[in-house]
Amino acid sequence: MTQEELFKKLIAHCKEYGFIFPSSEIYDGLGAVYDYGQNGVELKNNIKRYWWDSMVKLNENIVGIDAAIFMHPRTWEASGHVAAFNDPLIDNKDSKKRYRADVLIEDWMAKQDEKIQKEVDKARKRFGDAFDEEQYLATSPRVADIAAKRDAVHKRFADALNNSDLAELKQIILDCEVVCPISGTRNWTDVRQFNLMFSTQMGSTAEGANTIYLRPETAQGIFVNFLNVQKTGRMKLPFGIAQIGKAFRNEIVARQFIFRMREFEQMEMQFFVRPGTEMEWWNKWKETRMAWHRALGFGDDNYRFHDHDKLAHYANAATDVEYNFPFGFKEVEGIHSRTDFDLSNHQKFSGKKIQYFDPETNESYVPYVVETSIGVDRMFLQVMSAAYTEEKLEGGDQRVVLKFPAALAPVKVAVLPLVKKDGMPEVARKIVDELKYDYNVVYDEKDSVGKRYRRQDAVGTPFCVTVDGQTLEDGTVTIRHRDTMAQERVTVEELRRRVDEECSYRKLFKKLSL
Ligand code: ATP
Repeated sequence: MTQEELFKKLIAHCKEYGFIFPSSEIYDGLGAVYDYGQNGVELKNNIKRYWWDSMVKLNENIVGIDAAIFMHPRTWEASGHVAAFNDPLIDNKDSKKRYRADVLIEDWMAKQDEKIQKEVDKARKRFGDAFDEEQYLATSPRVADIAAKRDAVHKRFADALNNSDLAELKQIILDCEVVCPISGTRNWTDVRQFNLMFSTQMGSTAEGANTIYLRPETAQGIFVNFLNVQKTGRMKLPFGIAQIGKAFRNEIVARQFIFRMREFEQMEMQFFVRPGTEMEWWNKWKETRMAWHRALGFGDDNYRFHDHDKLAHYANAATDVEYNFPFGFKEVEGIHSRTDFDLSNHQKFSGKKIQYFDPETNESYVPYVVETSIGVDRMFLQVMSAAYTEEKLEGGDQRVVLKFPAALAPVKVAVLPLVKKDGMPEVARKIVDELKYDYNVVYDEKDSVGKRYRRQDAVGTPFCVTVDGQTLEDGTVTIRHRDTMAQERVTVEELRRRVDEECSYRKLFKKLSL
């Protein structure tokens, strides 16, 4: 199965098992907008809780807020979004499809890396055990040729982005002979800038109407509340403010399912520090955030950092945490050193002093900011891609199982009476009643136990509990474990202890060593 086929199956699975539906599907959907179903919302809430608690509960100096989506329009002038929140777009004249010019070039560069990898794989086959990858990479003329071309394009690309040179971006696309994946032609328009903010009107009359924006990031709600939180919480630097909320971007190209949406959710944390210490904190947050991702156990090699070629207008250092999606390594989270850009600009645009009095140095200054910014939906897709597994079973059967970390699983326990009689349903219901105050538990009595197991595997339920004749005699139940399919008999008290231990966030948090 190719990665593309795998991704298609994953999307179909998300729909079939109530994780994600296209928005307003009965009207044929709305581009790049999605709804979360009964299992999706549980997984999403669990991801949010993993993030929120790791920030707000585990760190004494981080507190949360929940700011409004609508903000005063001047906010977006101060933040630079009105002037500079643009993507370079390019159209193919034959297919009439629109693309982001930067993404086309990045994809071309990724293809060169794939070419190099193919050369390495070929050579490994040829040389067998004697193969020395490092030496091969250093000496192969073919690899040197591909790498030189890629590096030259990389340099031109970074320069073009930094100089906002749209003509040069188009020239790179032409020089690299990038073709439209739909029409297969190189018949491109010029590259143009496109502002990504959605606007709407506020006010009851058209005359009094004011253009306001749907926020394209949650961060500004934190910046404008910096003093409110600092004063009312008597916060001392360094400290952080965390927030989870919706953001909206009129993305030019919305592809890859929930990877790039027009309405999505962000989990952002702005960490305010003394000027001059921002690099130290930026490095610390890089490490902390990578540990958070890796604690989920999806394989350390599936994550990497990718430093930005072009720094945003507000940043002096920026890196992305990338995950190895079925469509390649792509950004899940950004870690940015934003300097004092935002707070200083809000000070300027609002005319209100936004400064911190540092009791240690007896000085007032505008703090610097290091932010961690992750998309809930992108994280959801990351977890889904990592968890989705197809397995061949003994006897030729196949199963699809979502191997979620238990704390994130939408349903923790399924309670299954072996048969619908002899008092088994009543005992099973009692177990559900005992567990339901603490966990999301389901009761299922339809079909054979085997079929019920498959249904729970497909939504990633870590524990299936079967009530049978012996339960009625000695009060023990069978636990069937999702990943190993191993079964064991335990008492109901022991069941509770197991669920507690496996499903608690504590298990994940301990890996963060905070
Ligand atoms: P990209 O380069 O993919 O457009 P970005 O660098 O503009 O992303 P940021 O502005 O740094 O993204 O946003 C922080 C995080 O918010 C991203 O790492 C991503 O997880 C999430 N995010 C951004 N845009 C979208 C979107 N359109 N749909 C879903 N998630 C998004």
